[in-house]
Amino acid sequence: MKNSTNPKRTLRYTTLMLCLFISLTLLVTALIHMSNTQTPTLSEHKSQTHAKLEPNPWLTHIIQPGDTLGEILSQWQLSFGETLSLLKQPLAKQYLINLKPGQKLEAHITKNTLLELKYTINTTDTLIIKNGHETYHATVIKNPLTSRLLTSSATINSNLSSAATKAHLSPGLYKQLTDIFAGTVNFKTAIQPGDHFRILYKEYYLNNKKHHSGEILAAELTNKNHTYTAIRFTTGTQTGYYTPTGNAIQPKYLKYPVHYTRISSPFSLHRMDPVRHKIAPHLGTDLATPTGTPIHSIGDGTVIFEGWSRGFGKTIIVRYNKHMKALYAHMSRFTSSLPHHVHKGEIIGYVGQTGWATGPHLHLGIYIDGKAVDPMTFSPPTGNPITKNQMTAFTATKNKLLDKLKQTTGQTT
Ligand SMILES: [Zn+2]
Repeated sequence: MKNSTNPKRTLRYTTLMLCLFISLTLLVTALIHMSNTQTPTLSEHKSQTHAKLEPNPWLTHIIQPGDTLGEILSQWQLSFGETLSLLKQPLAKQYLINLKPGQKLEAHITKNTLLELKYTINTTDTLIIKNGHETYHATVIKNPLTSRLLTSSATINSNLSSAATKAHLSPGLYKQLTDIFAGTVNFKTAIQPGDHFRILYKEYYLNNKKHHSGEILAAELTNKNHTYTAIRFTTGTQTGYYTPTGNAIQPKYLKYPVHYTRISSPFSLHRMDPVRHKIAPHLGTDLATPTGTPIHSIGDGTVIFEGWSRGFGKTIIVRYNKHMKALYAHMSRFTSSLPHHVHKGEIIGYVGQTGWATGPHLHLGIYIDGKAVDPMTFSPPTGNPITKNQMTAFTATKNKLLDKLKQTTGQTT
């Protein structure tokens, strides 16, 4: 029985080997697991990025949720005092107190002294802080955006919105297109299949990547076989869209300063006043809309009154020209730091029901030479046409833009 083995011994041997194998496997698994799940701490991050490469003394840290400037700087061997004096700079305070996860913080440090700090605020802005003998100097620099002129066009099958989607217009470009022609064509009722648009616009790039769509420089809208053309032109501080002959396309004033739900009370010379219960003229239009709805200035003008005006409650009066003023009443609040000069579309305050009001609404009054007119029937003038003096410059701009716009032929979708 030389070759026979003791079954008991074999079993014990096998069990032993199996136990050894399992223990080893467990150990190895645990080790792998540890090295995988260990989250890198700030100091490790530092040691990865610090690298003690003397020729490149810049340290880099990508902000993680919960990171604070103090922690990061102390990992970079800078004192708490240094953090404090950094944060004395208003710009540093503005951007470095709440660090945004994912943004990059870089520091140039030698001999435990911070020489320069860079923080990417967003894709275009970088905060730079330089150590200039005892005090820090902070600035925000803009990364240069480049722009290209692009064209886009589409034939309308059902409505303008789906044609714009088909042509991959950004929401901003679509809004500009509708704003340009809103006073010319009724997009809800007049658009027919076969109508067509074509635009020339600026597209901005940052490091060769598309950043955002800019302004439309020229546009054409063909509606019922008639083509309307708009050219963007700037004179002095005013920018607007003009017909090829130099007439302003867009109205100079907005008709509605708020998005409203309904007209709760029209302009009337004999109205039963809901608060005072007597017949009194209602020298404006009441646009009912929830409290807090932004109120936009209907044009470019000068604020001549801002305060409480008896039954009107919180009121702003803006003078738009020698003859025309508008009164905005019952506001819940004014926009903070309301400028003296306001622009068309700029938010001046918010809807409320201050003063004599039975519900939240904006009372809009328009006065021509001191006399109230009905804001809903008053037809605001369009902007001024191109003057004789501006005509040469306008014509040159027009020819250049229309040439570029025409180059879209063949790319029609
Ligand atoms: Zn009113």
